[in-house]
Amino acid sequence: MDAVMVMGNSHLVMRRSNRLAIIASHSQESRFLYPGKHWKLGSFAESGDVNSAESTSSGSKDGKYELLAIGNDIITEEIKDLMAKTEVRAQLTETLLAGSLAKALCYIYKVNKELEAGRELKSRILVIKAAEDSAAQYMNFMNVIFAAQKQNILIDACVLDSESGLLQQASDITGGLYLKIPQIQSLSQYLLWVFLPDPEQRSKLVLPPPVHVDYRAACFCHRNLIEIGYVCSVCLSIFCNFSPICTTCETAFRIALPPILKTKKKKSKLPTLNYLTS
Ligand SMILES: [Zn+2]
Ligand SMILES: [Zn+2]
Repeated sequence: MDAVMVMGNSHLVMRRSNRLAIIASHSQESRFLYPGKHWKLGSFAESGDVNSAESTSSGSKDGKYELLAIGNDIITEEIKDLMAKTEVRAQLTETLLAGSLAKALCYIYKVNKELEAGRELKSRILVIKAAEDSAAQYMNFMNVIFAAQKQNILIDACVLDSESGLLQQASDITGGLYLKIPQIQSLSQYLLWVFLPDPEQRSKLVLPPPVHVDYRAACFCHRNLIEIGYVCSVCLSIFCNFSPICTTCETAFRIALPPILKTKKKKSKLPTLNYLTS
């Protein structure tokens, strides 16, 4: 969290017009850490008035810029509150990432709406992920990715633990960066070096080489990665075996007539053709 706050603070001081939102994606909830509930959107950042943030914090004790110190205190409090309110279930390692991304997109949309006409924020989303991929969220996740692509919002991915096929696809589709960091101790360095620069500056940097994206999709029936499979024409669900009814949207497929019937018909009319085909 320290590394994330360093990155957030750096982003805020890079340019006066820069904005920041941080969303925690947990196993039972996704929540805005910043701007938090006690935070009036925009008014604080733009007026620079410390008192407009309804915070009990007395400000910086270590010489840190007060605005950043208050923001960091709020983030810390929200994280503590989130952890305290979450039931611990040992087996659960998936988070509500698709929902968090959707929240981020909605937030970007809302902030853009509040700007004067003609002004628009160039937004991007950075996912810092330590959890496992959730195959159950595949559909929601892909829908969010395509929504982001449509709005020209980059999705960067900084992966701390196991590789994430879903995030590789998300970064590739939206033009963002995907990086699994080799050492977690150096997280803040990677965040500042790779992910802090905006897309225009990135073209001038020597960044880690792009990963090979695994574009195989997981079948909805067994969650296996497959190269060839059946696709529902209604909801685009993927199956490794043919089934007469789509298990996702319950569409009943028209089944092609069994070949025996066809040959029987042909047999009565065109025996020679039947002979050739058989
Ligand atoms: Zn399957
Ligand atoms: Zn379907």
